[in-house]
Amino acid sequence: RSSLFFGGPVQLEDHESSTDLSLPPSGFHDGIVDGIEGCIGHTPLVRIRSLSAATGRTILAKAEFLNGAGGSPKDRVALHMIEVAESAGLLQPGRGDTIYEGTVGSTGISLATLARARGYRAHICMPNDMAIEKSTLLHHLGATVERVDPAPITSPDHFVNLARRRAAEHTASASTESRGFFADQFESPANYEAHLQTTGPEILQQTAGKIDAFVAGAGTGGTISGVAKYLKEEAKLKNVRIVLADPQGSGLYNKVRHGVMYSSTEREGTRRRAQVDTIVEGIGINRLTANFEAGRELVDDAVRVSDEQACRMARWLVEHDGIFAGSSTAVNFVAAVSTALKMPPGSVVVTVLCDSGTRHLSKFWKRIGEMGLEEGNDSEEGGQRGEGE
Ligand code: PMP
Repeated sequence: RSSLFFGGPVQLEDHESSTDLSLPPSGFHDGIVDGIEGCIGHTPLVRIRSLSAATGRTILAKAEFLNGAGGSPKDRVALHMIEVAESAGLLQPGRGDTIYEGTVGSTGISLATLARARGYRAHICMPNDMAIEKSTLLHHLGATVERVDPAPITSPDHFVNLARRRAAEHTASASTESRGFFADQFESPANYEAHLQTTGPEILQQTAGKIDAFVAGAGTGGTISGVAKYLKEEAKLKNVRIVLADPQGSGLYNKVRHGVMYSSTEREGTRRRAQVDTIVEGIGINRLTANFEAGRELVDDAVRVSDEQACRMARWLVEHDGIFAGSSTAVNFVAAVSTALKMPPGSVVVTVLCDSGTRHLSKFWKRIGEMGLEEGNDSEEGGQRGEGE
């Protein structure tokens, strides 16, 4: 690590002449948290005025983009996975350990941030068709980034298999006792446990139990499984409907609705196709992960959302609510509205505001511009948007 004082960002003279660089000596005051970890969780539940008015139901969204480390619900997961690994001795600060993960971006950003905060290195493997701003951010966080061609999960070069292999190689070859730790968000129970222990209880408390449906997409399935398990099994809200928001091309919709992921012809196509065919990032998957399986029996229904619907919803949210959302958020909101309209007026539907549109400028928001949805926006260039990014 670079020194704070000699040649670093603060000169020793500045420090000596300053009297108030330290925290109050009497301990922490209200609103002061210990490090970036203290900015994770306890996110607001936002009433979405435009959609509540349009549907006659109450649409609430958990503002997960406000998690202060990586800016997504993955902060909760990354912190819990690290804490579990530390308790088991798999990660130890000061030993030169590296956290390895396969991710489409958000989990990597959360892990890379928290790795820095706790004295680890991060090595992230991700598909090379994800929005470039995610890997740029990872680079600036000091993570090692391997962007790989999309490959089927059966291939050793799939980004998840690559991350697993890199962790094993690190542990095997390290001359010191430093270790490689594979976080494994798709299969690790620490993922859904984070939502079972934090997101679920927060939603129950914020709604005082008046919640009729919870709607969320699944990338690993950690969010939907953890929240479903908490609301239905722990809080005993047996009647709350758990609804999967699934982008086009994902197999989970069919699994929930019909018990199989693909028809035999679709399955053939999927074997050859490496990725889910959608512009949406972070949700939609064509295999069953341990984290989705953990809560699958509790999922009551699924809504399939097209890319066009997601783009139109994202544009609606900016125009009516001043909410600049990413693509998975847009899918969640389309499914939340569709779910709300199937329920009696006055019902309360909770969904998730996953991350900000600033992570999606070069792909999702570029498409929205190309679709002409932003025509009429004021701009100095005379209304042209979505260019030159
Ligand atoms: N939104 C975004 C932006 C994500 O990156 C992810 C996870 N990859 C999700 C939603 C889905 O969450 P989960 O993995 O808990 O299913």
